Amino acid sequence: MAVNVDVNKCCYCGGCVSICKYDAITLKETVLTIDNNKCIECNLCVEVCPAGALFTAEKEEI
Ligand code: SF4
Ligand code: SF4
Repeated sequence: MAVNVDVNKCCYCGGCVSICKYDAITLKETVLTIDNNKCIECNLCVEVCPAGALFTAEKEEI
């Protein structure tokens, strides 16, 4: 599993960046990046996102 962002829903409020204790989310202007190596999938960001832009999904097989 991994946390993903729906860029069409994200309003760049920064709420997920603030709540993530693991420094896994970075927001630079309008580019939201989730570092799945740092993310422990606590799902806090998914719960806090006011836009419903974050979701967990299976990692795609490469
Ligand atoms: S699920 Fe938890 S650890 Fe992962 S990005 Fe969201 S808040 Fe950070
Ligand atoms: S909390 Fe949701 S809307 Fe706000 S920056 Fe994060 S993903 Fe975007």
